[in-house]
Amino acid sequence: MKYFYVNLIFLFFSLKLAAQDPSEARISKEFLLGKTAYTESNFVKVDPKHASRNMYLNRETYTAFERMFKAAKADGIHLQIVSGARSFEHQKAIWDRKWKANEDLEPLCRSQKILEFSSMPATSRHHWGTDIDLNNLENSYFEEGSGKAEYEWLVQNAARFGFFQVYTSKDSGRTGYNEEKWHWSYLPLARHYLKAYNEMVSYEDIAGFEGAYLAEVQEMIADYVNGISQEEPASITGNTERQTVFTEPGE
Ligand SMILES: [Zn+2]
Repeated sequence: MKYFYVNLIFLFFSLKLAAQDPSEARISKEFLLGKTAYTESNFVKVDPKHASRNMYLNRETYTAFERMFKAAKADGIHLQIVSGARSFEHQKAIWDRKWKANEDLEPLCRSQKILEFSSMPATSRHHWGTDIDLNNLENSYFEEGSGKAEYEWLVQNAARFGFFQVYTSKDSGRTGYNEEKWHWSYLPLARHYLKAYNEMVSYEDIAGFEGAYLAEVQEMIADYVNGISQEEPASITGNTERQTVFTEPGE
C-alpha cells in the first residue's frame, strides 16, 4: 500500500511537470536553423499535383494548404506550391549562387542586394516548414490577369486557413525583405517558431557561409527575421493555448 501512494505521488508530480512544459521548449535550436533532417521533423512530402518539384512541408501546414487548395479550386483559382520547406544547406546553395553572381559588389552591398528577396541560411522561415511560395516568384505576375485574381483570392481567403502574407508592402515601416506577394506563412505554427527563435537563436548561430559576419551588421534577427507584417487578427495573436505539433526526433 505504501508503494501505491509513493507511485501515486510520483505520477502526480510527473503529470504536473509535463503540464508545465511549454510546447516551445520542445522546439530545438537546430530545427529553427534548418539543420534537422526532414525525416526527424514533422514534415511530409508534398503530393506532386500541388508542387512544381520535389518538396516537403510541415504536416499541419500541408493539411491546411490542402484545405485552402480545395476552396480555391471551387472558386476557379489554382494554387501551386513553388517552394516549401528549405534546409540550411538548400538555403546556403541559394545564398552561395547569389553571392557569386554579385561578386563585383562590396560585401555589404552584395549582401543587401541578395537580402531584397532571399534569406541568409539559418534565418529563413522556410526552414520551419510553415511557409510556402505560391504560383510565381515575381510581384508583377500578381498584378494582372490570372495572377491578380489568384492574389486577390488569397488576400480575401487565406487567413481562413491560417495563411498570411508576412512580407507585405514596406510603406508602413516594415523592415527586412521587400514585398513578396507569393510568400504565405502558416501563422498558427510559425508564430510559435518565431517566438522560440527569438528566445534561442543568437548571432553566433548564424554562421557557416560566406558573408555570415554581416548577419549582425545588418541586424538580421531584428530587421529581417522579425521584419514581418504585424497585421495579425486577434484569433491568431490571442491564441496562446495552442500546442505546436512539432515533435522531437523519433516521435
Ligand atoms: Zn518564400
